[in-house]
Amino acid sequence: MKFKDPRIQESILYKRLKGDTVQCQTCNRVCIIKENDIGFCRTRKNIEGKLYTLQYGDVSSYSLNPIEKKPAYHYFPGSTALTLGSWGCNLICDWCQNFHITKRPPPENPKDSNLITVEKIIENTSFNTSINGVCFSFNEPTLSLEFSIDVFKQLSEDYYKHYVTNGYMTTRALDLLIASGMNGMTVSFKGTENVVDCLLDMKLERVWENLQIAFQRGVHIELVYLLIPTVNDDEEFIRDFSQKVIQNLSEDVPIHFTRYFPAHLYRIPKTPISIMQKAHTIAKKEGLNYVYLGNIPGHPFQSTYCPECSELLIKRDSFSVTFTNLTPENRCPKCNKTIPKFPYRPI
Ligand code: SF4
Repeated sequence: MKFKDPRIQESILYKRLKGDTVQCQTCNRVCIIKENDIGFCRTRKNIEGKLYTLQYGDVSSYSLNPIEKKPAYHYFPGSTALTLGSWGCNLICDWCQNFHITKRPPPENPKDSNLITVEKIIENTSFNTSINGVCFSFNEPTLSLEFSIDVFKQLSEDYYKHYVTNGYMTTRALDLLIASGMNGMTVSFKGTENVVDCLLDMKLERVWENLQIAFQRGVHIELVYLLIPTVNDDEEFIRDFSQKVIQNLSEDVPIHFTRYFPAHLYRIPKTPISIMQKAHTIAKKEGLNYVYLGNIPGHPFQSTYCPECSELLIKRDSFSVTFTNLTPENRCPKCNKTIPKFPYRPI
């Protein structure tokens, strides 16, 4: 069926059930949706027994950002990502820092939307020579699966293709994204299983499974842990999380503990810096090589240090790379340790 509203496009991952009911297979909520109903994320609708995305090409934000803002520190440092966001989320975090776009469905009236075509994005990237890659971020990009796949497929290999996600897409959706060229993921954690599974009604195990698949297939991964006092700042949680990163992925995967600020329904005061620093100490002690602290402008743990001899390798100030000190072979100039995954160094 063709619609006047170009944002309504048939979903690529769903199953027909009895009658006109369908099951969405885009994310691990796998919603069962009756005719005329919408899914949990309010971005997919069953129309006459078929499932449709309601926000193909509808962007809530469109901007140029340093890749460090995602955050991604070991992935094309110092580069610029054309960053797009849309609407909605498949999780229910009461502390969401982007609630103004994640807690609402796409605008009902197409006139209120900001439509962009895949072709226009490709044109913009080639016109603006400062753009090094494209990133889907701000809300959960899995909900724009079809659009992001089309953008990644048409974008030349000269550009990187990045997702800032909660990692809760189905394995089939992840497969399609990797096949379309997605080569980087910043995946945000809200805590460990004991917090997340009951607070957010999800199965964190699925995220770890996806991470393992993506990692084995060569996708660059960085992890974010938003540290919220009394919710997920228990020392045992940090230890458990750090151990899981090493067991499931590698001690070289960069980890970003980011500072929480009151937002949406949460009024707990912002995370004390002492708690942030304690998390850093625990994660390093557990054996993680690259641990960063985010949302604290000017903090020295925004920079990269050699895990062997602590030499400063990349200095960052907010979202800028201000100094690099790696050899051309990506080694520490002091102790010669090889530092993995810095594929591009513009300064
Ligand atoms: S994307 Fe996820 S939350 Fe949205 S309808 Fe599909 S399964 Fe449900």
